[in-house]
Amino acid sequence: LRRLQARQSNRPRASAAVPLPRLLSAPASLRPPLPPRLPPRRTQSGKQPGEGLELEDIFIAVKTTRKYHRSRLDLLLQTWISRARGQTFIFTDWEDRELRLKAGDHMINTNCSAVHTRQALCCKMSVEYDKFLESGQKWFCHVDDDNYVNPRTLLRLLSAFSHSQDVYVGRPSLDHPIEAADHVQSDGSTTVKFWFATGGAGFCISRGLALKMSPWASLGNFISTAERVRLPDDCTIGYIIEGLLEVKLLHSPLFHSHLENLQRLQGESVLQQVTLSYGDPENKHNVVSVGGVFGLQQDPTRFKSVHCLLYPDTIWCPTKKIS
Ligand code: UDP
Ligand code: MN
Repeated sequence: LRRLQARQSNRPRASAAVPLPRLLSAPASLRPPLPPRLPPRRTQSGKQPGEGLELEDIFIAVKTTRKYHRSRLDLLLQTWISRARGQTFIFTDWEDRELRLKAGDHMINTNCSAVHTRQALCCKMSVEYDKFLESGQKWFCHVDDDNYVNPRTLLRLLSAFSHSQDVYVGRPSLDHPIEAADHVQSDGSTTVKFWFATGGAGFCISRGLALKMSPWASLGNFISTAERVRLPDDCTIGYIIEGLLEVKLLHSPLFHSHLENLQRLQGESVLQQVTLSYGDPENKHNVVSVGGVFGLQQDPTRFKSVHCLLYPDTIWCPTKKIS
C-alpha cells in the first residue's frame, strides 16, 4: 500500500517526526497550464444560482502557525483581511496576546501541535471544517498565510453557484490525478484516482458538499481519514470529495500558489484573480508583477501594491498624483 502511494504521488512519506514538504512533483511553472474547466452555470431564468450571495455568506479560514504571526499574518491583517474581517478566521497553534488583540475571537487556537507534519496540519484542517459547519455560513474557503484573497473576485466566483449544489473549486498542483490505496472498487481495483486542489492556492467548498463530507471529516474523523490513506490535509479533502463522494473538482485558474511561476501574472489581470501568493525567502523573486505603487524593497511580496490598486482609499496607500 505505502509503496504504491510513494510511486504514484512522488510525495515523501510522512511520519510523526518527519517534516512533510507539500511539493508533490515538479513546480507548476515547468508544466503546461491546465485549461479552465469551469462550466458556465445559469438557470433557465437567466439568473445565476448564487445571485444575492454576500461576503458575509463566506467563511474564510487562514491556516497559520506561531512562527508566522509577525512575518506573514500581520501583512494579511493590514491588507485583504481588513476588507473581510467579519468572515475571516485565523487558525493557529499558539495563544499570542498580540494577535488576540488584533483578531479577537476571529483567532482560533486549535491547540494542534506547531510542527509541519501531516498529523498537525490535518488537525488544523479538521478544526477549520468543524468551525465552518458550526458557523452556518454558505461557503467554506481555506487559504494559507501566504495567500492574498481578493474578496470581490471570490464573491463573484462563488455567486455563479448555489451553496446547496456540490461544489469543490480550486487549483490542482499536478497535471494528473493522484492515486491512493483504498477499499476494493466496483471495477475490482484497490486504488482510487482523484484530483485535489492544492491548499497553498486556496480552495472553496459549498455547504451542501461540506455536509456530505461529515462522516469522514467532522469531529476528528478527518484526522483518521488522513491517517488511513496516509495523505496530507489538502489531498485528503480531494480524496473525500472525488474519491469517496464522486464529486468532481472544478479546476479554476483563478487560484494561485507559489508552486507556479507568479511572475507570469501581470498588470490588470493580477487584480482579476481570486488568490495570489509569493515565493519563500529562497525564491523571493517569485512574485506577481504589479508596478506603480510600492517598490520591491518596501513591498517584497507585492501584496501591499495589489491591495492599494484594489482599495485605493486605504489610509496607508499613496494618494494618486494629479498630473
Ligand atoms: N504551517 C503550519 N505549521 C507549520 C508550518 C506551516 O500550520 O509547522 C502552515 C503555514 O502557516 C502555511 C501552510 O502551513 O499556512 C504552508 O506552509 P508554508 O507556506 O511554510 O509551506 P509550503 O507548503 O507552502 O511550502
Ligand atoms: Mn507556502
